[in-house]
Amino acid sequence: MAFISKKKVCKFCENKVEIDYKDYKTLRRFITEQGKIIPRRVTGSCAKHQRELVTAIKRARNIALLPYSFDVTQN
Ligand SMILES: [Zn+2]
Repeated sequence: MAFISKKKVCKFCENKVEIDYKDYKTLRRFITEQGKIIPRRVTGSCAKHQRELVTAIKRARNIALLPYSFDVTQN
């Protein structure tokens, strides 16, 4: 996948991007095809932004911008 680089730099810190739950196009890059949130060690996001990301993804799911995970253990 293109967004996974060998250098683990938090994309949000690097680009000074604010995580917006309505920005589902960005959020979708951080979930798998199965709708699971990609772990921090894979994306390279920092703890702060990963937490914001998870919150944003859950919020986006609530308003049906993103699909729910098929993995019930995640919720
Ligand atoms: Zn960050």
